[in-house]
Amino acid sequence: MADLTPFIAGLPKAELHVHHVGSASPRIVSELAARHPDSKVPTDPEALVDYFTFTDFAHFIEVYLSVVDLVRTPEDVRLLTYEVARDMARQNIRYAELTITPFSSTRRGIDEKAFMAAIEDARAAAETELGVILRWCFDIPGEAGLEAAEETTRLAVDLRPEGLVSFGLGGPEIGVPRPQFKPYFDRAIAAGLHSVPHAGETTGPQTVWDALRDLRAERIGHGTSAPQDPALLAHLAEHRIALEVCPTSNLATRAVTDLDRHPIREMVAAGVLVTVNSDDPPMFGTDLNTEYAVAARLLGLDERGVAALAKNAVEASFLDPAGKARIAGEIDAYTEQWLAL
Ligand SMILES: [Zn+2]
Repeated sequence: MADLTPFIAGLPKAELHVHHVGSASPRIVSELAARHPDSKVPTDPEALVDYFTFTDFAHFIEVYLSVVDLVRTPEDVRLLTYEVARDMARQNIRYAELTITPFSSTRRGIDEKAFMAAIEDARAAAETELGVILRWCFDIPGEAGLEAAEETTRLAVDLRPEGLVSFGLGGPEIGVPRPQFKPYFDRAIAAGLHSVPHAGETTGPQTVWDALRDLRAERIGHGTSAPQDPALLAHLAEHRIALEVCPTSNLATRAVTDLDRHPIREMVAAGVLVTVNSDDPPMFGTDLNTEYAVAARLLGLDERGVAALAKNAVEASFLDPAGKARIAGEIDAYTEQWLAL
């Protein structure tokens, strides 16, 4: 089969499941570390590649938190956000819903209004200067419990920045049942936000059902275990509830033990709207283009198949209809031009 790498690299794409701090590349972390010399994080990008080599999941969390600790001021927030968009532009990502955990920043003492201003300033600059449309998903860090849920909901509903479109739930699933977050999702949904919790990444299909029934999920973050329940797959397919699949992340966190046995094939075979995403790309040693290449290999796709996958993300996004039509049109035009060569 032809090498799809150059086709994927130039393909206009949308990304629906990617975390803010988790997108900090060694280049960005190095800039942030240089601003805070008291941090133990290296400033040399070469040393950072080693720093980002994880021995296990606990080590990943430790490194992740050390990067969270580098985001201390509204200027850090703006720099991180804008530079993440720059890395997206390099991959021809035209649109991204970036999952932000504002609780991590406000708890560290960043003024909440200044935080919102910083992300919005970066969003405006990313769109005009880089051609990347950003929208936000504010997510509850599930491990921080109901206090974090309350704070995240308040920030989302009361301070709602213009780019905010959705409300999520991340962190560990084991020991953090989804139904307890129902009242917070009810408030966010009533305020007009879309529901996009992580579910079924490290637990079984019941967690996905909980996310659908209690949190009224419109898309599912990961849903890796969904193929264990054919009735669930049929439900997802029938209601066009997209799965945000992040193959390399699933391998890195051991949600799947072998990439070649990733359940993305069963998801697609069942007619589920599957989207491909990168989650915490530099931390998992990947980027969206790599994830598309992985998916293309697993699904045996050609250029048109990859383009269809890219259009799934546009369809499942919360962009307005005109914006969706424009990016889908770009994907088609690029693909036809490529195949005509
Ligand atoms: Zn995630």
